[in-house]
Amino acid sequence: MPFSNLGLSIPLLKALVEQKYTQPYPIQQQAIPAILDGKDILGIAQTGSGKTASFVLPILQQLQDGGSTKNRHVRVLVLVPTRELAIQVNDVFTALGTNLPQPIKTMAVYGGVSINPQMIGMQGVEILVATPGRLLELISTNAVSLSAIKTLVLDEADKMLNLGFQEEMKKVISFLPKNRQNLLFSATLSEDLNNINRNLLRNPVVIKVEEEEKNLDLIKQFGYSIAEEKKGPLLRYILKQQKIKQVLIFTSSVHRADAVALKLNQNGIDAFAIHSKKSQLGREEALKFFKEGKVKVLVATDLMARGIDIKFLPYVINYELPRSPKDYIHRIGRTGRAESSGEAISLISPDEEHHFKVIQKKMGKRVTMIDGNAINLKGY
Ligand code: AMP
Repeated sequence: MPFSNLGLSIPLLKALVEQKYTQPYPIQQQAIPAILDGKDILGIAQTGSGKTASFVLPILQQLQDGGSTKNRHVRVLVLVPTRELAIQVNDVFTALGTNLPQPIKTMAVYGGVSINPQMIGMQGVEILVATPGRLLELISTNAVSLSAIKTLVLDEADKMLNLGFQEEMKKVISFLPKNRQNLLFSATLSEDLNNINRNLLRNPVVIKVEEEEKNLDLIKQFGYSIAEEKKGPLLRYILKQQKIKQVLIFTSSVHRADAVALKLNQNGIDAFAIHSKKSQLGREEALKFFKEGKVKVLVATDLMARGIDIKFLPYVINYELPRSPKDYIHRIGRTGRAESSGEAISLISPDEEHHFKVIQKKMGKRVTMIDGNAINLKGY
């Protein structure tokens, strides 16, 4: 089914062509007509499913129907767990709204940066993408009012709860008018989330998009058995031998992410670390340079990596294994997305061997192992 069958306007269809979205993803096929119809939505979907465009497109279309806004009274609120996701979602609104005859002002607000420019920038904003804490600050200073909200989106709601935003979410919801459309997206459902759903959603259309199993088949997986102290040289060997141009490297701690990036830089390989202890500006810059191909290596912790959306990531390297098999699948799922193949490489120290076997069993796939200790790493 083409996008043109979903009831979207010509300017939106034009933007889709420009963005090279040829066919709607399953979640878009289901969500777009339902949202245009005014229904509430419960979408169980991961990053990568196309969930963002599934709410961005119908929201942009609905706002075209007019209805003037009082200044600082936003009409759409998208609540997100992280700054990275806020920026990403805002970018999708901008990209897909680019051809609209009546431009719609959207803005992303999040903590960790000065609040003043956000307060000033709120003039004329119709769609606000916000993290909960900063939004509450803006409300308390009267920089924004939620009393005219027509549509509420909770994006990655499970992550918002995991990050401890439950009280903030409740408080934000208490500022909203009763009559509104609610769209809730989450990768998983939990008891806590079900409680929120029950209070929030009215007779929702439930859309469930399973994580694509077949995706794993697109990913070539290798493991190198290697002594812990030789992981650094082996990493540099792999990066150089395979002439890797863009790679996301996972570590399990902030400290290790910094150490790995530092060592790579000392060895002439441009690398940035991205994690929760980095400044907001540092994180944004690292992501921007990585996306533009100016930096080829990004070293990240799991939490940070979730928000990174890059269309095609050819390589993922696990410098250390994650604790849960689910996280492993998440990590390697960053490559081989959208029908392009990718490669996932794991560096396995003797201490991690047993855990790697458990991961393979849970995943239902065996990973080809290479003896890294037999490789001559002199000079790396
Ligand atoms: P999301 O799950 O919203 O983070 O989207 C995942 C990725 O898929 C993003 O890079 C989008 O730009 C891309 N995408 C979303 N919908 C489509 C589509 N219909 N065709 C091609 N790419 C898409």
